[in-house]
Formats: sequence, structure tokens, C-alpha cells
Amino acid sequence: MIPLVAWLLLLLSSPSSLLIEKKDKVDWLIVGGGLHGVHIAARLIAVGSSLAIVDEEARLLTKWKSRAAATGMKYMRSSASFHLDVDVASLRRFAATATADAAAVSTIPKKKRRQRHRSSSSSRQHFTSDYERPSLDLFNRHCDHVIQKYGIEDLHICGRVQRIDPTKDNQSVTVTIATSGHDSTTVSAKQVVLAMGFDDPKIPAWALVKEEEGGEYPQKPPIQHVLDLTTTTTSHSASGDIVIVGGGISAVHKALQLAEQQQSTTSSSTSVIHIVSPHPLQEQQFDTHQDWMMTAQTAAQSLQAGGSGFPDRFMKFRQLESFIDRRTVIRQARKAGTVPTALTRGGLKHAIDKGNIQWHVATIDRVTSTASLTDSNDDSRDVTSACIHLSTGETISTSWDNIVLATGFGSSPPSAPLIHQIAKDFNLPLAPCGYPMVDHTLRWHPRVIVSGGLAELELGPSARNLAGARMAAERIVASNQ
Ligand SMILES: Cc1cc2nc3c(=O)[nH]c(=O)nc-3n(C[C@H](O)[C@H](O)[C@H](O)COP(=O)(O)OP(=O)(O)OC[C@H]3O[C@@H](n4cnc5c(N)ncnc54)[C@H](O)[C@@H]3O)c2cc1C
Repeated sequence: MIPLVAWLLLLLSSPSSLLIEKKDKVDWLIVGGGLHGVHIAARLIAVGSSLAIVDEEARLLTKWKSRAAATGMKYMRSSASFHLDVDVASLRRFAATATADAAAVSTIPKKKRRQRHRSSSSSRQHFTSDYERPSLDLFNRHCDHVIQKYGIEDLHICGRVQRIDPTKDNQSVTVTIATSGHDSTTVSAKQVVLAMGFDDPKIPAWALVKEEEGGEYPQKPPIQHVLDLTTTTTSHSASGDIVIVGGGISAVHKALQLAEQQQSTTSSSTSVIHIVSPHPLQEQQFDTHQDWMMTAQTAAQSLQAGGSGFPDRFMKFRQLESFIDRRTVIRQARKAGTVPTALTRGGLKHAIDKGNIQWHVATIDRVTSTASLTDSNDDSRDVTSACIHLSTGETISTSWDNIVLATGFGSSPPSAPLIHQIAKDFNLPLAPCGYPMVDHTLRWHPRVIVSGGLAELELGPSARNLAGARMAAERIVASNQ
């Protein structure tokens, strides 16, 4: 007989299997515990729905937090109204409480604290002065607060959804989830929300090319991509220039982070950070026009205040019947490769003027290995030298592990294999671009709803952002009441 203590230890060691037992039948199953999945969960819980949320990571939002940290970003691009709680004012309130709490525990005398608050204002550290953008730290702490407030981590099934199948009576769907090891389980859900997010960092052709057969030099190491969680931990060679490929916000965040790190080290390194971008620096506050970020709630407020509600471009988009035309509008309206002014003026231009960062308008023709060396600062580590040939005719010499891709995600829909399986087995339509063709309520099927990039053809160019999460959640909740 197993003693009681051993049983308890066994149960505690496998929380996800326990949860699955409790949740083999649910009203709502959300696939993906990223920003979208968590926000939709909060909204559904707020109206009394019962649900489970599946994410392959041990903790919700792991991928979001890891990617945001890997880019080196300090402030969000979006403003204080875009977060995971239901009430728009929640993040601002949370910041005020955090500031008050910090002041309460401070050991600085009250008078001095007031002076300091006036000059450096801790609330100003939480938000930028342009567009009231929250710091990443505040935003993430608020995310954790929302998860706790709605008890969402308790609803988390740790596993990867492998397939979703229709049932004979059409009253539910069967979701197959791979859990730890080779185990898998099934959950029956009345409604499933697909909120998987993009996970295929774009890798340029030259970075995929294998070393020439019989090549003189060793196999090149995998090139780091700021959004690829399998490579972002690779360290840089201690010496030599760093080459960041891409000309958008992630490239600039990463360059500024590395420049700051270089300045804080005592070494007299004269290495340069090169940004290789197909276009010149393009300043733009958000990656889509603000018109695309309007929720039904803000549209109603606009109408009440005498405004025109949903903007024209949004209404015209919704009226487009052709999904090819909708994709064209999305392509034109999403300004990938742009950088907010605060970031360029707040460091990039200065670093370029000083010569710490060089911006090359070019593409990379090829990269060749030139020699295998030992890292000058770490003689246990071999690095392979690389010569980067730019379309302008210039070359940059560095090592393979000093090349960082900041080229965004590919263009296929999130979790394409799962999407194809669902399309086939439920007989559901995909647009020519490969994305689900969904109705106004984001239903692809009476029991299958989408969010994030998957909802792009209905929600427009900001579908994958926080604005899109809020728009999706609003429609999902409204269509179920
Ligand atoms: C560095 C960076 C900064 C950004 N900054 C902003 C910003 O300031 N403002 C803004 O509005 N937007 C921003 N975005 C865009 C967008 O808001 C984020 O990309 C956001 O993370 C998208 O949320 P998501 O839930 O769709 O995807 P993710 O955060 O990627 O979450 C998807 C989740 O689904 C899980 N998953 C996937 N497939 C399965 C499966 N089969 N089974 C189980 N789980 C699965 C993954 O583990 C993951 O946790 C930023 C994006 C990046 C990369």
C-alpha cells in the first residue's frame, strides 16, 4: 500500500493531469495562453463563463514574456488602454497603486520623497510621456495581476493541442492535447477559441543555406533570431562587430540594448553594431493607424460624444466581400519595419551620430565562413568567422554568433498544421492567403472561434496586437449573451 504522504506528493507533482481530470468536459476551451488567450479568458470569466486554457508552457504568457525580454524593449509600443483586464482604466489604476505602495514602504523621509516625486515622478517611469505607453515591467506585472484576479492559472492545462475533431451530435468538439512525455488526453468542449499566436520566425534564405559540402570550415552555428525562443539564449562572441538584420522596432530595441551593454562594460571594445535593413529608418508611432484599433466600446463612446463611431476605413474594410481585397488592405495598412519616434530620438540617432550603431540600407547577398577561431575572451569556445556580403558591395566581418535576425514572423497563419487539420475535418473555408474565413462573431464554425492573427480577415490589420485581443474578446462575449 502507498502511504498517504506518498500519494499526496504524487498528486502535487502532476498538477496538469489533475486539472485535466477535472476538466475533461468544459464549456469553453481556449487554445493558447498568450496575451490573446489570457485576455479572452478574463472577459469570459467576468461574465460567468466556465473555461479551461491550454498552453504548452508551464506558465501562462511564457512565450510573450521571453520574446519581449529577448528584444530588449523597455516600454510597450501600445498605450495604457491596451492590456489584459476588462476595464480600460485597470492598468492606470494598477500603476497608481504600485506608485503609492512603493512610496509607503520607502524609507526616505516624507518631505524628500515629495521633492523626488515631483522631479523624477515614479508614475512617469511607469509610462512614457508620448502616448502614455507602459513600461514592459509594469505591463507584465499587471498581466500577472489579471491572471491572479480571475484565477486563470488554476484553469491552465499544460500541454499542446494536437488536433480538434467534430463530434457526431455537433454539440461539442473533441480536443486532443499532448501533455508531458508521450501522454495525451482529450477534452470535450462546447466552444473552442483558437488563440495560438505566431511562432515561425522569418529566416532569410542565406541563413538557411547549409555549409558547402566538403567545405573547409566547420558547420556554421544556428543563427539567432530575437523571436526564436530556441536560439535567443545563444551568447555573442565577446569581441567583434554585431550585425542585426532587419529595420523595424525589434532590430532597434536589440541594437540599443547591445549598445547600452557595451557602454556599461569596462572593456575598451571598439566594436560596432550594424543594422542591415532593406529600407532607411522609418518613423511611425504604431504599426497600424489608430483607426484600426477601435473597439465597439470606444466606437460607442465616440458616437455619444458626437463623433462618427467606427472610422470610415474600418467600415469599408468590413464591407469588402473579397478576402483577397481584405488581405490587400491588411498588407498596405500594417507598417512592418517602422519604429516609434520616441525610440529613434531617445537613443538611436544619438548612437548613430556617435558611430556606435551603423545603419546600412542593404540586403544580404550571402555570408561566407572565413576561419574558425577561439573566442579571445573565452578560450574554451570556438567561433566561426563570417564575412557578410551586402547588396551595396560592402562587406562586414564578424563571427556567426554575432549575427542576430530581427526579421519578424513569416506570413503563414499561426499553427498552420493544426489549422489545416481543422479546415479539413470540419470542412471549413480558408482564404487564398491560407487564413480562416470567419463571420462577424469570429466563428469559423459554430463551435470554433478565432482570435489574433487568425482573425485578421475580419478584424483588420491590428488583429494580432492587444487592440485585436480586446476587439476579439468583445465580439466573443457579445455573441454569447
Ligand atoms: C517583442 C514584441 C513586442 C510587442 N509589443 C506590442 C505592443 O506594445 N502592443 C501591442 O498591441 N502588440 C505588441 N506586440 C504584438 C502582439 O500583441 C504580441 O505578439 C502578442 O504576444 C500576441 O499574443 P498571442 O496570444 O496572439 O500570441 P503569443 O503571445 O505568442 O501566445 C500564443 C500562445 O499559444 C501557445 N500555443 C501555440 N500553439 C499551441 C498549441 N497547439 N497548443 C497549446 N498552446 C499553444 C503558445 O505557447 C503561446 O503561449 C508585440 C509583439 C512582440 C513579438
